[in-house]
Amino acid sequence: MKQLFCRLLLGLLPLTLWGQASNPVWFKAPLAPRLANYEIEAYVTPEEHTLKGSLKLTWKNAGTQATTKMPLHLYLNAFKGPNSIFMREGGGSLRGDRMGDENDQSSWGYCRIESIRLEGRSLQGSYGEDESVYWVNLTRAVSPGETVTLEIEWVSQFPRVFARTGWSDGFLMAAQWFPKVGVYQGSQWTCDAHHANTEFFSDFGTYAVNVNVPRGFWLAHSGEAITYIDPADGLKKDAWPDPLDDKRMIYKLYAEDIHDFAFAMKSNLDWKRRDFTYRGVRVSLFYEPSHHLMIDRHVAAIETSLRLAEEWYFKYPYPVLTVVDPPANASGADGMEYPTLIMAGTSAFDPFNFRIPEVVTVHEFGHQYFYGMLASDEVNEPWLDEGFTSYFESKVMQRHYSGLLNSRRFQLPGNFSSLMSYLMTPNSDPLTRKGYESATYGNTAYTKPDMVLQQLEARLGHQTMSQVMMTYTREMAFKHPTHLDFKRIAERISGRNLDSFWSDYVMGTGILDYQIEEVSVLNTQEGGWDINQKLEAEFEPITTLMPQGRIKLQRRGEIVSPITLWVRLSTGEERKVRWDGKDRWVHFDFPAPIVQAQLDPDFEYPILNNRLYASWSPKAPTRGIAYWAHMVMSFLTYSLQGIGLL
Ligand SMILES: [Zn+2]
Repeated sequence: MKQLFCRLLLGLLPLTLWGQASNPVWFKAPLAPRLANYEIEAYVTPEEHTLKGSLKLTWKNAGTQATTKMPLHLYLNAFKGPNSIFMREGGGSLRGDRMGDENDQSSWGYCRIESIRLEGRSLQGSYGEDESVYWVNLTRAVSPGETVTLEIEWVSQFPRVFARTGWSDGFLMAAQWFPKVGVYQGSQWTCDAHHANTEFFSDFGTYAVNVNVPRGFWLAHSGEAITYIDPADGLKKDAWPDPLDDKRMIYKLYAEDIHDFAFAMKSNLDWKRRDFTYRGVRVSLFYEPSHHLMIDRHVAAIETSLRLAEEWYFKYPYPVLTVVDPPANASGADGMEYPTLIMAGTSAFDPFNFRIPEVVTVHEFGHQYFYGMLASDEVNEPWLDEGFTSYFESKVMQRHYSGLLNSRRFQLPGNFSSLMSYLMTPNSDPLTRKGYESATYGNTAYTKPDMVLQQLEARLGHQTMSQVMMTYTREMAFKHPTHLDFKRIAERISGRNLDSFWSDYVMGTGILDYQIEEVSVLNTQEGGWDINQKLEAEFEPITTLMPQGRIKLQRRGEIVSPITLWVRLSTGEERKVRWDGKDRWVHFDFPAPIVQAQLDPDFEYPILNNRLYASWSPKAPTRGIAYWAHMVMSFLTYSLQGIGLL
């Protein structure tokens, strides 16, 4: 390691000088507080799945108290052995993917610190909850407002690709690969261990990253590659020659106002690349040769996402965006987001036309806002990232795509798959539950918040909700918002008090569940003995009056909210009544039998637990032959498309 570090120093001296002269400026005025700035030198040996590195971390104390400690995330230590918190919680599985053979050493990975120095002095430290966090003892207190520079040398060993990071047959996804400082707010560090479910939280800064790799590898990376004109052929090149080794080359990468940095690499002999510019953003798309038929779909999804995010939130500010469609044997790296870099996924067989590749690309792009720029704490409030991103994904898919089983077909106001997931786990954890404590993470972080935001939109109205989202994203970008920031802005824009909404849907675990329990006919009769005005008993003939209709409604959930009932009577008359929903049940009588009834006819409640029980008619509605013929035709068409015959 010593030898390597000398080599790095020697080799990188001219690069450092060059780096000072040539780094581009993305933003004249910083978009974010630049608290954690990294200069990184990385030397990758792909055949050994290792990366040896040195970095300078320039960190500013933006808290209110001095600190004598600094925690570093060593995320790769989550894959060090079965005893890490990550492996204990996940059992070697994550997001439908499994780690490689546990008995094969190359399945595992780690991050080993070689040295840490501050102002020429060597620092020591100790591990936190597990080895994925390392607490460094600074040699002195760092005061509020003060900036210090730590120099760190380390070695990263990548696991076989699993849980977002690692290698697979010539492909390497380098994610969470360098020691990374936690977030200091007030007098408090936030630097959670790497848990199985939850993701990341970090501060913004600039990144100048030099990655030294063997010749012939392409890098798909965060940030921008600084190019040069090769005098040998006069062509512009992304990678510079290594002055010390003609078998290697160096990518010189740069980015501003981001909070993480990742890259993927693969031989350029079996990787394809398409570059295009849309709305001033230079997009590079890397993909497998066998996926070439899917690429136009990814391009369309990226352009649609860039356009709608600009319309709904604000213009994507970075000059670059890189998209990787990973190989099939690296599916553990699929569907993930890093600043200015997204990992897509290809899935051709799609008989129900769920448009899975588009869903993944749109979703990961949405993260550029909620994870990338708003950058809420994904460990402690994961729904502010995943849930808001799912809401973005739902909106884009609703607006641009239709499929066999989507919401448009069933005339649902929200996202069909979110609704299905929510229906299967309606009373899951509160949205504010920490990610790693949640027993229903998928629902609590993704689909329930999507439904809750759809519900908030129904409550506030589409125009107001659009204004809320635009204001929230613009005001809170680069500020690590919490759910209380979102509530405050939603209340200010809408002029409403949202306390009960928050206690019902955000902090609560109850469900909104109203049902039509029973519909009946009341036969009423008139006549019989009566006392007239002369106080004489008289018998009037018994006659049967027009029968009346009765409906019984039931509140089966904990959430109390007024709800509308619509009925059509046998006379053809239609009526609407409003129930405050406070009692557990109620009945309403009407002057004629009910022939049709529907709760919530105006879709005030997209989150209503089960709409099947919210409508009633005396006989089941029948589907015409045209409807079923269309369903069968669509299924056959998408199946044939999926296997490449159409
Ligand atoms: Zn996501």
